[in-house]
Amino acid sequence: MSYTHELLERVIARSPGEPEFHQAVREVLETLAPIFTKRPEYIRWKILDRMVEPERLISFRVPWVDGQGEVQVNRGYRVQYNSAIGPYKGGIRFHPSVSASVIKFLGFEQTLKNGLTGLPLGGGKGGSDFDPKGKTDAEVMAFCHSFINALYRYIGSDTDVPAGDIGVGAREVGYMTGQYKRLTGNLPGGVFTGKAPAFGGSLGRPQATGYGLVYLTEDLLGRKGQSFKGKKVVISGAGNVAIYAAEKVTQLGGIPITVSDSSGYIYDAGGLDIALLKEIKFNRKERLTAYKEAKPGSEYKAGGLVWEVPCDVALPCATQNELPKAGAEALVKNGCKAVGEGANMPSTPESVEIFQKNGLIFAPGKAANAGGVSVSGLEMSQNSMRQAWSFEQVDTALQGIMKGIVRQITEAAETYGQPDNLVLGANIAGFLRVADAMMGQGVV
Ligand code: NDP
Repeated sequence: MSYTHELLERVIARSPGEPEFHQAVREVLETLAPIFTKRPEYIRWKILDRMVEPERLISFRVPWVDGQGEVQVNRGYRVQYNSAIGPYKGGIRFHPSVSASVIKFLGFEQTLKNGLTGLPLGGGKGGSDFDPKGKTDAEVMAFCHSFINALYRYIGSDTDVPAGDIGVGAREVGYMTGQYKRLTGNLPGGVFTGKAPAFGGSLGRPQATGYGLVYLTEDLLGRKGQSFKGKKVVISGAGNVAIYAAEKVTQLGGIPITVSDSSGYIYDAGGLDIALLKEIKFNRKERLTAYKEAKPGSEYKAGGLVWEVPCDVALPCATQNELPKAGAEALVKNGCKAVGEGANMPSTPESVEIFQKNGLIFAPGKAANAGGVSVSGLEMSQNSMRQAWSFEQVDTALQGIMKGIVRQITEAAETYGQPDNLVLGANIAGFLRVADAMMGQGVV
């Protein structure tokens, strides 16, 4: 049995019952094998054996009192996955599906993703099974404060810098920053990124993941003589990543025709009204059915998946494993040419195989959605320098970083003899950055 197969078996035996974590590790290990014939020293120094094992996984109780005076108890996590190239960095997710397995898969992916950004950022991730849906502002604040009461001693602006993710936006980051500051006296509170600009947040951070995804996909389309111009684009999710991806697609002349949530999706054949979408989701915090009511000609499909809608480009921007085999088959059948992952691990392994076999451009999440963490890195720089950069400055830097990522992953894919396999390219390029830093620091 090969080195990587044996290692995968050990990971599964050591972390039973963690399917998302196994899936993320399997995908990476399957593509890294060609490195080890060229660089056997990585095996001797057990670089990969160390990389798959998180440096630390913290799990804690989060008790809080809801609006009815009932005591609620949730579970919180922070995985400090790998600090070889910088402080742990990665978002906090609030969603009922959060488990140790989900947090470990996200932390592992984040480590390699942060390696691709070229910034000095290690990998981390955190979250809770708390469901913010339907909670009042006061309840969300009570929860965030209790979450930080447990977590604050483990994070810091030079050690571990969290941000947002599913269910955690500027409001939640604000409440967590406030409580962190109160407990530690750390002003002006650079420990979180994704803050409001009023207290150190970077302009362009809310847009960064969605915009970065579209910049990277446009670059990859350009390498095949194509662009977003005139293309019909199917997008899943209706959160931060999905809406800003739709906005940038529109700016580049493409036509975003769907967004979705866990109840169903909107199909708007003429192109989504981005201002209306933002009003409904960001300001009024309503469900997508409100879009159909406000926009004549749009349709709402309860329970369906957007992948059944014919398109040229698909951008999955909701959650892991949201694009199953049947969805991938439908996309291919309807002539889709490119898939860019805004979410983390949205395509199942079977779907990735279908895209690759059928010659679609496939940009995996750890490269395609790295724009968010990149601008978080720029927010850390601005906080340390006591500066606030303009939107244009940040956006230009983001475009440069996404170009750099495309360059690295395509070069790695070519070097290892599979020029169209960007999964392999991203995994190898991310691995090499982290691996060489680990080699340089000895066995730690
Ligand atoms: P948001 O919370 O803003 O939005 C999430 C969206 O996805 C919502 O529309 C939500 O619908 C939908 N969704 C979530 N879970 C499910 C589910 N189980 N089934 C169906 N739909 C679901 O999150 P973000 O936009 O920030 O994050 C989206 C994805 O992008 C995640 O995978 C995240 O890890 C990834 N990502 C985010 C970054 C960021 O900067 N925010 C950076 C890099 C990656 P509903 O309201 O019904 O739950």
